[in-house]
Amino acid sequence: MIDLKELILSKDNLYPLLRKLRKEARLIAPVKNEHGDTLFRPVGDIDTTDIDLENQPQESLKPFFLPQQETLTGYTINKGEYSFSPPPPAKNTIFFGVRSCDLTALLYMDLIFSKPFKDATYFDRRNHSLIITLGCNQPFANCFCEATGSGPYLEYGYGLQFIDIGDRYYVSAGRGKGADLLNKWSYFFREVEEEDQNRRYQLFLEARGQFTRNIQVPHACRKLQQEPVAEAIWEKLSSRCYDCGGCAYVCPTCTCFSVDDKPQDNNSGIRVRSWDACTSSGFTRMTGGHNPVDRTRHALKRRFLHKLKHDFASHGKASCTGCGRCIDICFGGVDITTFIELFTQQEKP
Ligand code: SF4
Ligand code: SF4
Repeated sequence: MIDLKELILSKDNLYPLLRKLRKEARLIAPVKNEHGDTLFRPVGDIDTTDIDLENQPQESLKPFFLPQQETLTGYTINKGEYSFSPPPPAKNTIFFGVRSCDLTALLYMDLIFSKPFKDATYFDRRNHSLIITLGCNQPFANCFCEATGSGPYLEYGYGLQFIDIGDRYYVSAGRGKGADLLNKWSYFFREVEEEDQNRRYQLFLEARGQFTRNIQVPHACRKLQQEPVAEAIWEKLSSRCYDCGGCAYVCPTCTCFSVDDKPQDNNSGIRVRSWDACTSSGFTRMTGGHNPVDRTRHALKRRFLHKLKHDFASHGKASCTGCGRCIDICFGGVDITTFIELFTQQEKP
């Protein structure tokens, strides 16, 4: 048994290690597809898959733990009695190359799906997963994780955390499965030396220095506890929102869903869970078709206040990880940083 806390993996040993992991479980990693898009995908043959550790995956891990649509149970009715068939059990899965912000989002989802009761389907997937993160030495164009306390490196939550320190990775183990994995494949690793620690620290400081935008997330959260948002801000933002819902769909912490029972015949059916979002037109629409609120303005209010005001009040932290995907996707320029900038500049009423 070796000290499992922190070790060094030479880059030459990365693919041999991934090959071993691939045999143990389904391996999901950022993969560049034929269109040049980087998405989390199952890795088949390691040698022919274009594992992309340079670009930010365009989607988060959300669809793997909360699929866009999933069957929660099947049901049959026999002489008035219901019987239920649960969904298939989760597969053992190792997620490799997950960025710090996306693991932080998963920790938030853990919170959401554990209260007031534990969501069995979600936690089945979670319990069968091991997350290997890759700290960011170079923030992507629209990231602001430093302002949300979600990166660029993490202190906890991961199975393993990889930090690229040149021709090698500085690997830190979390508790449980990550430490077990290091122990099992210990011959790929060597002990950490002082030079490795110095390099890691230097890269961490350099990474923090590369965030160019000063997004005042904690200040906005605190200010929201004390001051209402001027209607002029909602007016300005909603006039530029096209109601496309893209921001909520790419957001790793937007976890709202709808549940529908879909009969298949008179005696059987399925219960389906699908993503929903305050930015979707059906979110507040009533059965008769009437929508009691100003759609766009209400949607943006819900989205931003939920993340920055209510979650800060409930959990002491905003439920925005600074991943920047809503900035990437919104063609109206109505992302969360626009709101934060407008609100933090708002004068006291
Ligand atoms: S804020 Fe942007 S991404 Fe979100 S619904 Fe409006 S137009 Fe679409
Ligand atoms: S609100 Fe935007 S930046 Fe924040 S977690 Fe969601 S997609 Fe990422």
